[in-house]
Amino acid sequence: MSEPLLQVRRALTDSEIGSLADRIAQAQSIPDLLAVAVHGLYDTLLAEHHRRFDDFDRDNPLDPQRFRIPTIQWQALADAVTSRADQWGCATTIALDLVNIWPSTFDDPTVPDPTLAVIDRRPHQFDIHVSRDAADEIAACEQQLSLLAGYYGRASAQYLDALRSWQPLLVGLFTTRRGADTTVSRDGRLSLLVTCDSLTYAAIFHGWRRRCTGTACGATASDDGTWHESDHSTPTADHVHTPNYPFDAPQPGTWSFHS
Ligand SMILES: [Zn+2]
Ligand SMILES: [Zn+2]
Repeated sequence: MSEPLLQVRRALTDSEIGSLADRIAQAQSIPDLLAVAVHGLYDTLLAEHHRRFDDFDRDNPLDPQRFRIPTIQWQALADAVTSRADQWGCATTIALDLVNIWPSTFDDPTVPDPTLAVIDRRPHQFDIHVSRDAADEIAACEQQLSLLAGYYGRASAQYLDALRSWQPLLVGLFTTRRGADTTVSRDGRLSLLVTCDSLTYAAIFHGWRRRCTGTACGATASDDGTWHESDHSTPTADHVHTPNYPFDAPQPGTWSFHS
């Protein structure tokens, strides 16, 4: 095997892009769409080397880093693929597949935007199902935010950090790229589980642990005011402990996503 490593770095021609866009638009299922997107693009780039995507396998893997197309073309084709995927509610997940499997990109300001005509395949209506527990928990989250605003102030980091992490969660419920059907259930205190057609994720509230602010003191405390030695290596100091947030105060924290 003295064959030089294959490398392709070029812009696609208008007719290559047009033909790929046609095949993407005509795909009739998710596997079909992914096959057209991946085989189609690589076969196009490999044609001049008389190779095909199927020539590569586990023993002779294809390295996406060795293939590059202009960013603007990559993005236009990716938009075509994710728009087609909207019919099956998997635009978000197929977008991640493309990032992993498709060629890399390079920036070339002389390459024009292909401006592909894309049909909007998103559903006309979206259903969000919210369990009673989840609705109560959403109300509890809103209540937590007002408690933080009331206690620490609307300009406080405690309130703003929590608010900024809560908003993407609410906005995410109204996305139009994850299918027509979303179910929200409770996933523990101040936390939710969101199930979409092609994606499930949890939005978990991570509250501050109440601990002593004293230097070189590793003590933590329960809400009832009892102090404990923490599991960390820092020992508990022999002093009157100072909590990082008061015992009568609402618990600061932020929401984060886990899929
Ligand atoms: Zn439904
Ligand atoms: Zn202490």
